[in-house]
This record gives sequence, structure tokens and C-alpha cells, in this order.
Amino acid sequence: MINIAIDGPGGAGKSTVARALAEKLGIMYLDTGAMYRAAALKAFDCKTDVKDASAVEKLTENLDIEVRYANGEQKIFLDGKDVSKRIREHFVSALASDISAVPALRLRLVDLQRTAAEKFDCVLDGRDIGSFVLPDATLKIYLTADVRVRARRRTAELESRGQKAAFESVLEDLEARDRNDMTRAFAPLKKAEDAVIVDSTDMTVDEVVDKIEKMLKQRLTEI
Ligand code: C5P
Repeated sequence: MINIAIDGPGGAGKSTVARALAEKLGIMYLDTGAMYRAAALKAFDCKTDVKDASAVEKLTENLDIEVRYANGEQKIFLDGKDVSKRIREHFVSALASDISAVPALRLRLVDLQRTAAEKFDCVLDGRDIGSFVLPDATLKIYLTADVRVRARRRTAELESRGQKAAFESVLEDLEARDRNDMTRAFAPLKKAEDAVIVDSTDMTVDEVVDKIEKMLKQRLTEI
């Protein structure tokens, strides 16, 4: 199987790049952040404190998250309902970051991710794909960009969805979330030793996609 891991901090363009790359290669795209967001939404709806590990563990036991594909688009279902739109609301980001620190929840979602990666050629984007979920991935990319550029992109993304977003607060939220993701004890955000760093600060999406595609071609000649 071909598995491409794209990890990195928030707003680096991981999902945009991963989606475009998967389309170009004609393989699946798995947005693993969407799974953590769906879990966070479940906690929000059940009034579960995302920082209470034992409450989150209990929630994990009855967690019904499913990824489905419709017309090439990934849709995420929580308890049988399509929550693809709701998980993108701004408040869900911080909740997802907090809930994702609970090992029992991570292991449950990692299981789903590994199963998908065993069945399909795919591009997966997340925080720990290269370092924890798929240590033997075909190609590992650590996609990053200057934090102010990332905040600008995230602000524009939220605005395009009709959500109010002030640059400074988006910047603060991004920095806080990166810190949270990098410092959690279990499977934190970090560059896998054998990952290639791609800095997208001054690159367009097409340039990043082309660069990764070239690296993949090269990699496939080596294995
Ligand atoms: O990528 P996205 O911003 O949708 O991810 C939301 C949150 O989910 C991240 O801040 C991170 O805490 C968590 N996450 C994770 N591991 C992944 C993907 C996302 O911990 N593989």
C-alpha cells in the first residue's frame, strides 16, 4: 500500500495539500483531525469535560465515528449523523486539541486510521501519522509555515465559511493549540525522524503538491 503521512502544526495547509495530492494521485484522503473534532463535538453535546481523562475514556467506549466518502468528499458521521460542517466551527478546535491528549481516545481513533491505511492507498494528514500511527509510511512530510502566515490562512478559511475571525485571536488560538499538541505526553505533534520538512510559507498549494509528488516518485524508485 502507498501511505503518505502529512503532519505539522495548524494552518500549515495540510488538509488542502493532502486533498489535492490524493486527487491528483487518484487515491484516498483521510483527514484524521476531523475524527478528533468529531470526538470533541460529542463531548460538547454530552457536556463532558474534555480535560477530564476518565470522563473522556467513558465517552470513548460509546463513541460512534465513521468516515464515509460521497463524490470523492470525506464526510464524517457521529452517531450516524453527518457532522462534517459542525466540526469546522471555531470553538471545536481548542476542544479537539484538549480531548486529543487522552490516550484511550487516541488509541481508538488510531485504530480506525490504521485500518483505513491497511485497506487503501491514501494520504493521511494529522499530527502523529509519521511519528506514531504509521511508522512505515511510504513517505513522511512535515508541513509547516511561518505562524503569522498560518494564522492569516486560517482567518481567511474561517471567513470563507461565514465565521467571524479576528486575526490576532486566531493567531493566539493557533499558538496555544500548537503548544498543547506539541507538549502532550502521548503521541505529541513532532516531526518523525525520517520525515522531510516542507516549509510552505512562500509556496502555493500547487507548488507544495508538485514537490511532494516528485518526492513520492523518487521514493517509489527506491523501494
Ligand atoms: O487538523 P485539525 O486542526 O482539524 O485537528 C484538530 C486537533 O486534533 C489538533 O489540534 C490536534 O490536537 C488533534 N489531532 C491530533 N492528531 C491527529 C490529528 C489531529 O491530535 N492525527
